[in-house]
Amino acid sequence: MADIEVPVFIVGGSLVGLSAALLLGHHGIGSLVVEHHRGTAIHPRAAQTSQRTMEICRQVGLEQIVRQKSEEQFVQDGGVLAVETLVGGPIAHYIADLNEGVRDVSPTVRVFLSQDALEPQLRKRAEELGAELRFATEMVSFEQDAHGVTAVIRDRDSGKTQTVRAQYMVAADGAHSRVRERLRIRMKGHGTFSKSITIYFRAHLAPLIEGHKWAVVYVLNRQLSGFFRFEKPFEKAFLGVFTVGNPENPVMDVSTGLTDQRSLELVRMAIGTDRLPITIENIMHWEASADMAEQLHDGRVFLAGDAAHTMPPNGGFGGNVGVQDAHNLAWKLALVLQGRAGPGLLSTYEPERRPPGAFTVEQAYSRYVLRTAPHLSRDGLQPVAPDLNIEMGYIYHSDAIVSEDPNDSRVHENPRESKGRPGTRAPHVWLQRHGEQISTLDLFGRNFTLLAGPEGDAWTEAAYDASRRVGIDLDVHKIGENGLTDPSGGFPAAYGITATGTVLVRPDGFVAWRANTANGALPERITRVLATVLCRLG
Ligand SMILES: Cc1cc2nc3c(=O)[nH]c(=O)nc-3n(C[C@H](O)[C@H](O)[C@H](O)COP(=O)(O)OP(=O)(O)OC[C@H]3O[C@@H](n4cnc5c(N)ncnc54)[C@H](O)[C@@H]3O)c2cc1C
Repeated sequence: MADIEVPVFIVGGSLVGLSAALLLGHHGIGSLVVEHHRGTAIHPRAAQTSQRTMEICRQVGLEQIVRQKSEEQFVQDGGVLAVETLVGGPIAHYIADLNEGVRDVSPTVRVFLSQDALEPQLRKRAEELGAELRFATEMVSFEQDAHGVTAVIRDRDSGKTQTVRAQYMVAADGAHSRVRERLRIRMKGHGTFSKSITIYFRAHLAPLIEGHKWAVVYVLNRQLSGFFRFEKPFEKAFLGVFTVGNPENPVMDVSTGLTDQRSLELVRMAIGTDRLPITIENIMHWEASADMAEQLHDGRVFLAGDAAHTMPPNGGFGGNVGVQDAHNLAWKLALVLQGRAGPGLLSTYEPERRPPGAFTVEQAYSRYVLRTAPHLSRDGLQPVAPDLNIEMGYIYHSDAIVSEDPNDSRVHENPRESKGRPGTRAPHVWLQRHGEQISTLDLFGRNFTLLAGPEGDAWTEAAYDASRRVGIDLDVHKIGENGLTDPSGGFPAAYGITATGTVLVRPDGFVAWRANTANGALPERITRVLATVLCRLG
């Protein structure tokens, strides 16, 4: 018998492992997380947090604290631009205002909040929801069989080892995932293209930055290619350096043999003056790569986050995609563990998460090449798609979706165009509940949700019956009932249905199925749909 028994064992307690624990907790599933480090992130690393990640934070009660921490740390709505040197000023603008033109699609906004500030919030909430987190603990080995996974973990301080038995394991152990290696899952893509560094430094930057809405500033000159990220009150920042030397023919290994003196020179070259006193605080070494794991799922083990895909930081996508992996997986694990869905539901993780993962890797790579690496070939480079499509417009095709067009294999689109089509994120529409403004998104998150138009009574009645037959909790809402109103009258059109139609939304906020009108509004129809998307048929 194992020392510890737990439904889900998570390897890695950084951004994605903590998110997985939190989201499993949200669905009432216990987990054990082991993390090699002694605590949450000490380096800022990821900061750009997409609207989709913020919607997930909103679902688990973290949106307000994340926004508050972001306001303390960063200029809101900051831009992304390029300079030759900071002193020289902008030579290109990629994004003038982080939230320009995207506020209508979501009840929340994009923010910057660095990983060292976000992770403690994820940790706190995960623990509140029942996850057990063990820091300074590593997973040493694991085996899986038909019923579960047995792993050996070791406390790094005492050296004591224990065995863990779990029904499922999530590998959130980062780009160099030992779990992935052990499963012999290969990475495929562009490989590693630079040994990069991040230099954390202090300097009185306010005179150069204050008054500008600059969050991420790319630097491209004859000496280096990289990017700055600035925090309020502009007394400290980091400079990420991808390559040094002439960008047309650069040195790709910035990391080997790097001294503090050289780091100081690099910061000075990027700022463009020798006169500013600068203190180097810390240096982080990392590899820029763009690869996708050939498999995301092996038996009872699932890869998530950087273990599943690596990408350069250009675009600020890596951490966000990892959070979406965890979000996709958590409710599926919960329903299968609770015996409410067939195990086939877990097999939908791969077909749902691989295409958006691979697409995002290519999009980050395209941004890397176009913004910072003129020496790399542009042949075959995927054209840059709008950030919004990448963050919110990814589309799922799997057995957990009742597709309306089996020939549709699109991976992304503008989320404004999805209009509630099955496989896409359920659109945001402002509604009112007992006079209080809420988003349609606030109705989703824990269970499957059936949301009917103002004349969709036939569907809501059928839904109550179907949920009893299938034995799952189904949240049922109708516009105009129980204090729920649609002041703009925009709900049916936003979801591509008529007033008598309905939509079935999964716990991750993706549309599973919809009916345009009241035709066929019988319990049998919804029972069949639920059994299909829960993979209980066959
Ligand atoms: C400079 C920089 C800027 C970035 N900016 C952004 C951004 O703005 N937005 C964005 O979305 N992303 C950004 N990223 C990417 C983002 O940081 C990563 O995608 C994210 O950290 C991935 O999280 P993860 O949990 O999957 O992996 P990691 O953060 O790598 O965590 C893996 C964890 O697993 C632990 N671990 C590994 N093996 C074991 C084991 N056997 N036992 C126990 N523990 C183990 C490790 O200690 C580690 O803490 C940036 C990255 C860099 C380098």
